[in-house]
Amino acid sequence: MARGIVAIDGPAGAGKSTVARQVADRLGYLYIDTGAMYRALTWKALMLGVNLEDENALTALAANTDVALTGSGEGQRVYVDGREVTEEIRRPEVSRAVSLVARVPGVREEMVCLQRQLAAGGRVVLDGRDIGTCVLPWADCKIFLTASPEERARRRWLELKGKGYEVSFEQILAEIRERDRIDSQREVAPLKPAEDAVVIDTTGMTLPEVVEKVIRLCRDKGCEPVERRGDGS
Ligand code: C5P
Repeated sequence: MARGIVAIDGPAGAGKSTVARQVADRLGYLYIDTGAMYRALTWKALMLGVNLEDENALTALAANTDVALTGSGEGQRVYVDGREVTEEIRRPEVSRAVSLVARVPGVREEMVCLQRQLAAGGRVVLDGRDIGTCVLPWADCKIFLTASPEERARRRWLELKGKGYEVSFEQILAEIRERDRIDSQREVAPLKPAEDAVVIDTTGMTLPEVVEKVIRLCRDKGCEPVERRGDGS
């Protein structure tokens, strides 16, 4: 029987987190943003001035850092050693550095362990790069969301502009390409669709269309919505 484990992977800017949040909300499942965990650790590494080329230092940092997620959906909050960093981890300097931290095997071991613990109860939607291939290869439903680099850069650019950041489209496009390159070429858990994942190219699709499609696929795999009580809780 399906335990309700949904894995949504894909490159930066493909819309994973927005789609995953909405799918989790519709199914009544817990949403787990695994990218936020790597970002949280990267934020701490930058704060402490850790050399991002130093794998041993990053591995030690991961082992000695408490990364926590609370809540689900829009209200999800991210904490590092008890301090809230929900907003800070979205800053452009964290986005530029995160792939260097995430490629370190010791860092991934720590994060994967935490992700498996969080998913252990089932009824979860996780988004990331390696959920279907490495973290939870036993997931019931595996989706790989993608879109052209230009489309993904355009979405990120609009999002950052909306938050008041002054960034050029060309710079975002270059950073997205660089992140894709590091994420797909790293030795451990590279970004790629699982063999049994359904690949959805979201270029030209609206958000509601993508969400509907993913919900349909989840239900096809036996991931049914949690029964909600009549009082809406
Ligand atoms: O999803 P988001 O863009 O926030 O992820 C930030 C970075 O974290 C990715 O570019 C990737 O380097 C790393 N990541 C990862 N494995 C995951 C999730 C994110 O390596 N499961």
